[in-house]
Amino acid sequence: MVKGNWQKEISEAITSVDELLNILDLQTSIAGDQLMFAPEFKLLVPRAYVSRMQKGNPQDPLLLQVLPRVLEACNVEGFSVDPLAERAVSPVPGLLHKYYGRVLITMAASCALNCRFCFRRHFPYAQNIIDENTCMGILAYIANDKTITEVILSGGEPLLISDAKFNTFINALEKIEHVKILRIHSRMPIVVSARITEELLCSLRKSRLQIVVVVHCNHANELVSAVTESIDKLRAAKVSVLNQSVLLRGINDNADALIALSYKLFNSGILPYYLHMLDKVQGAAHFAVSDTLARRLLAEVQSKLPGYLVPQLVREVPRATSKTRL
Ligand code: SF4
Repeated sequence: MVKGNWQKEISEAITSVDELLNILDLQTSIAGDQLMFAPEFKLLVPRAYVSRMQKGNPQDPLLLQVLPRVLEACNVEGFSVDPLAERAVSPVPGLLHKYYGRVLITMAASCALNCRFCFRRHFPYAQNIIDENTCMGILAYIANDKTITEVILSGGEPLLISDAKFNTFINALEKIEHVKILRIHSRMPIVVSARITEELLCSLRKSRLQIVVVVHCNHANELVSAVTESIDKLRAAKVSVLNQSVLLRGINDNADALIALSYKLFNSGILPYYLHMLDKVQGAAHFAVSDTLARRLLAEVQSKLPGYLVPQLVREVPRATSKTRL
């Protein structure tokens, strides 16, 4: 198979901490004993994303999202490998049915970039690989439950699958009459914008389903012109584009950063949707922001932005029937 630009970008992503620190001129400012060797959830970051980081800045908000640090080894009470109790809501492999009317499919077992705070960093993807059989099981489950009107593709990174596979899947989904909306949770338009190919757009454009793409961007510095171009293409294909962020200590836990993010998202054609409290996943406690600070930040953001640029501050509570607003 001939590799497209986006697949090449992924295959050339940086996986070596040394290489990353060298590129950013940080070998001397970040000591080796602050870093973590994490083979089970390795460093993974595409070069285009690294080019948005500031050289010589060990506190760069994009760097902190991807750099494995020893802080991840701390076991903190209340933080677990399955913070959302997702393993209890998987009626068939590869599918989670948490909320009324919606199901989520863990479409791919990996990502283009490994976020250190990822709530699925310990998810048993190996038991949820989507092969042909699993896919048939998933489609049968959806077809048998007429209350399901929305299907959410998540992961891992759902847009890591090929255009051909995506097209086959969406065609099969369209045959299930009660499914009306396809939502795609993807970091690709932000991280590897070249993923928005003409073939993908063609599948989206001709679909009878209403398509929503929810990107994941935590800081204004992630939004460069290549991102805006990919979002423009999605919107031209009649796709609604929303953003969800995670409130992260040291990365976006101040009102100025959140306001700048909202404005830049809007400028790039994306509406702010959710600002998530961190899910309490083992290895990510150092990113947690207190409820008190989160509420104070939201109040400040609300006082300075029009309502349509203020994301909903939410937490996901295991077994709750919807997201919980703070
Ligand atoms: S892109 Fe999403 S699923 Fe992948 S590591 Fe980041 S937060 Fe997790």
